[in-house]
Amino acid sequence: MSHRILIVGGGAGGLELATRLGRTLGKRGKAKVTLVDANLTHIWKPLLHEVAAGSLNSSEDELNYVAQAKWNHFEFQLGRMTGLNRAEQRITLSATLDERGEVLVPERQLGYDSLVIAVGSTTNDFGTAGAAEHCLFLDTREQAERFHSQLLSHYLRAHASQSDTTEQINVAIVGAGATGVELAAELHHAAHQLAAYGLDSIHPENMRITLIEAGPRVLPALPERIGKPVH
Ligand SMILES: Cc1cc2nc3c(=O)[nH]c(=O)nc-3n(C[C@H](O)[C@H](O)[C@H](O)COP(=O)(O)OP(=O)(O)OC[C@H]3O[C@@H](n4cnc5c(N)ncnc54)[C@H](O)[C@@H]3O)c2cc1C
Repeated sequence: MSHRILIVGGGAGGLELATRLGRTLGKRGKAKVTLVDANLTHIWKPLLHEVAAGSLNSSEDELNYVAQAKWNHFEFQLGRMTGLNRAEQRITLSATLDERGEVLVPERQLGYDSLVIAVGSTTNDFGTAGAAEHCLFLDTREQAERFHSQLLSHYLRAHASQSDTTEQINVAIVGAGATGVELAAELHHAAHQLAAYGLDSIHPENMRITLIEAGPRVLPALPERIGKPVH
């Protein structure tokens, strides 16, 4: 039996690794390369702020793992890793349910000779009271789509209310790194687009965006000149 390489997590790291190993070892039959991910498709995380603002339709930019596997000589398994038995060299994948809550793929175990765990990271709220319950995070496509849906709902409610007074929307973004700054810019653009499409009960200037940053300036990881306002 050829060497079994199991990669858990098809993000920026795992997807690239599975593709490269598939094209080399997998293609020549020197190893059996398997990629596991909790989702069927990959979306490049740095695009999530565009999904949140509505400037990118995530289904247009996603990459299907099954197709990627087929063309690059590796195997794809859908499932979320919930257990690891190092002594017996196998992992457990929990059952995947469909939107009706019915089992799509049952719980199962996969064996390996070499295991790579590339499950990424999620936002750290530093234990701030209330943050987990009340904030929207931007780590996954589902979260970005939830943000967008809430934004649209707000506009649609204002539009349907037919009130004479113009309404306001306040968005607070915690973190003025690249994602926070880009999200603020995309939302500013979205406010104009929504009004242009007729959802003008909230005037563009009435979308108030507040960027919250603990450091002295925006984009703290980048050179100071990039964080300076342009007049
Ligand atoms: C909004 C946003 C903007 C960003 N912008 C930039 C940028 O401009 N430039 C830059 O260099 N970096 C950026 N980053 C960071 C960059 O996206 C990450 O550094 C990179 O994605 C990390 O790659 P990874 O492979 O470690 O994990 P990820 O890309 O996070 O992939 C992890 C994968 O593991 C899967 N997974 C997780 N848990 C399990 C499990 N238990 N079982 C099975 N599968 C699992 C997930 O579904 C996912 O597909 C940004 C991140 C975010 C969130």
